[in-house]
Amino acid sequence: MTTLRLILGDQLNLKISSLSDCNKDKDIILMCEVWDEATYVRHHKKKIAFIFSAMRHFAEELKKQGYNIHYTKLDGEENTGSFCGEVKRTIEAHTIDSVIVTEASEYRVLKSMRSWNREFGVPIEIRPDDRFLCTHDEFQSWVGGRKQLRMEYFYRKMRKKHNIIMDGEKPEVGQWNYDNENRKPPKEGLHLPQTYMLDPDDITREVMDLVADRFPNHFGDLEPFHFAVTRDQALQALNQFIRERLMNFGDYQDAMVQGEPWMYHAHLSFYINCGLLLPLECVEAAENAYHDDKAPLNAVEGFIRQIIGWREYVRGIYWLRMPAYERENFLEANRALPELFWGEKTQMNCLSQCVKETKENAYAHHIQRLMVLGNFALIAGLSPEEVNEWYMIVYADAYQWVELPNVTGMILFADGGYLGSKPYAASGAYINKMSNYCKGCKYKVTKKNGPEACPFNYLYWDFLIRNEDKLSKNNRLGMIYKTLERFDENKVSAIKEDSRRFLKALDHGEKV
Ligand SMILES: Cc1cc2nc3c(=O)[nH]c(=O)nc-3n(C[C@H](O)[C@H](O)[C@H](O)COP(=O)(O)OP(=O)(O)OC[C@H]3O[C@@H](n4cnc5c(N)ncnc54)[C@H](O)[C@@H]3O)c2cc1C
Ligand code: SF4
Repeated sequence: MTTLRLILGDQLNLKISSLSDCNKDKDIILMCEVWDEATYVRHHKKKIAFIFSAMRHFAEELKKQGYNIHYTKLDGEENTGSFCGEVKRTIEAHTIDSVIVTEASEYRVLKSMRSWNREFGVPIEIRPDDRFLCTHDEFQSWVGGRKQLRMEYFYRKMRKKHNIIMDGEKPEVGQWNYDNENRKPPKEGLHLPQTYMLDPDDITREVMDLVADRFPNHFGDLEPFHFAVTRDQALQALNQFIRERLMNFGDYQDAMVQGEPWMYHAHLSFYINCGLLLPLECVEAAENAYHDDKAPLNAVEGFIRQIIGWREYVRGIYWLRMPAYERENFLEANRALPELFWGEKTQMNCLSQCVKETKENAYAHHIQRLMVLGNFALIAGLSPEEVNEWYMIVYADAYQWVELPNVTGMILFADGGYLGSKPYAASGAYINKMSNYCKGCKYKVTKKNGPEACPFNYLYWDFLIRNEDKLSKNNRLGMIYKTLERFDENKVSAIKEDSRRFLKALDHGEKV
């Protein structure tokens, strides 16, 4: 009996369910770099290089551990270009009795896997991905008949289930959530430790050459490349975060500083999502830091909430709402994605900085993705389809299960408020409070109208006016619509006129 065990590029962990009970003498492990996956959206060059390099290093590790590994390189002569083709080719070349795979994290791939049984005439066993802390059934039963979900209650359930900073049914100390302590603006002279950085080894260099050769027109800078690409390196990156940045993670979670792409964030999402790190070990490392007095509770609780709360919650919503979730467009937004998202010059300094850093690092931290890029996409009325594609392309941690709910649900309110209770729309005042971007901007954040005014200021109100019929009944926007009612006619006309002029220029590809 020979079993074929397929390992995907985001399943790079020895504890993955498809490897348990593996017979090293008989079973074949298949890993493949396929053209279809590298190009179904035109991923950032650094993202492709990262995943291929991590895959090749993982294959080396498996070989060392005595597994019988079949690895197809992207430029391998017989590479068929798809998972389906590679599984078929391996089944045909060997006597394979069954195929075992851990469920794909993306709907599109899982759907294809489910048809393999019929297609190849060999039994396929699709195993749950137990790296996640909440199963599909568990999430579904938590949702039950609820019309609107709240992450906070889901998060509490996860904390209890996994006994994380808990004392029985209650938080170990204080309250469940310290979010209101985690909004400090950046102060002058903050000491910002560097992120984990490593020079590329020979394997990574080979992959970088391949990417430069095969994907020259994809967005993003390949060099400098300094991601961890093995589990040991990713563990070092985790330890460095716990040691050097976790203590300030909470306080400055929402802060942005010009020229500082990394701040006190973890920079671990790419490693967690591809399997080099397990979510629970990151959570435990943070919890230990708290118990050892190395980091305060607001930081530790905030970090843990992102992982066992938000990360699991968005995954639950993805599987609950797919495939329809991909087509949601509650606000009927249809503006094309402007060229500034691909690095065309813009006078809006906050956008310019966030796109520049995204291009360089295949990374932007949460508040840049949410309150600068996402906020702009929302209030400018950009098409959810195009915005989703952009976010999928540009970030090294982007897989549809996590990208789509964050974009469709969190930033664009395209699901009508299923994931979050209100749109994250904000004027320039928020960006000014949480960053120093406005100091270096051609626009004036204090001006509300006119050609010099910060575009976020009038677009924010114009967004509320444009979508009044859909949003004014939202409880959490009641006060804002009351304020809008008090605006006199001149003010409303100025908002509409500035927005019309700005959006027209945007649509015509003019520099805004
Ligand atoms: C529009 C938008 C798109 C996003 N797209 C992605 C994506 O494609 N892939 C992705 O992993 N995250 C995505 N996020 C969530 C979040 O921004 C990133 O996880 C985070 O910036 C990664 O950097 P970090 O490791 O430094 O995270 P930190 O800020 O240090 O947070 C710690 C960890 O918490 C988890 N986390 C935090 N927030 C979220 C969230 N909202 N959803 C899921 N996990 C979360 C991540 O695993 C992260 O590593 C998106 C957020 C927004 C607003
Ligand atoms: S003034 Fe407006 S556009 Fe310029 S950096 Fe500030 S928020 Fe961004």
